[in-house]
Amino acid sequence: MKDCIFCQIANGTIPSSKVFENDDFVAFNDLAPTAPVHVLVVPKQHVQSINQITDAETEDQFAHFFSTVQAVASQLGLAESGYRVVINTGADGGQTVPHFHAHIIGGKALGWPPFAD
Ligand code: 5GP
Ligand code: ZN
Repeated sequence: MKDCIFCQIANGTIPSSKVFENDDFVAFNDLAPTAPVHVLVVPKQHVQSINQITDAETEDQFAHFFSTVQAVASQLGLAESGYRVVINTGADGGQTVPHFHAHIIGGKALGWPPFAD
C-alpha cells in the first residue's frame, strides 16, 4: 500500500535497521524502543490488523508467523531469558500504525500488567 510506513520499510523505500528477513516477514528495530531489545515483526504483504487475517492468502502467510517470531527472538538472544510479544489491535489496543506488526520486547525483566490508564 503506497502511503503505508511499514509497506515502505518492508520494500526498502524507507530505511530501517533490519535484523531478519524471510519470504513473508521482515523484522527491524523500533524507532522508539521501550526496552533494551524492541523489534517489530511485519508481514511484507499489507494486512491492517488481526481483524483482516481472513482469506486463504493471509491465513497461509500467517501460518508461519510464530516460527518467524521464534527465529527472531532466538537470533536476538532472548530465547533463554524470555521476552514479550505484543500485537496492538485497533484504537483501544493502542495500534498507531495500521499495518499488522508484532513487537518483540525484552532484554530486561518486564513489568506486568503492561498497560497504563
Ligand atoms: P503500534 O503502536 O502501532 O503497536 O506500534 C507502532 C510502532 O512503530 C511504535 O512502537 C513506533 O515507535 C514504531 N514506528 C513508527 N514509525 C516507525 C518508523 O518509521 N521506523 C521504525 N523503525 N519504527 C517506527
Ligand atoms: Zn502496509
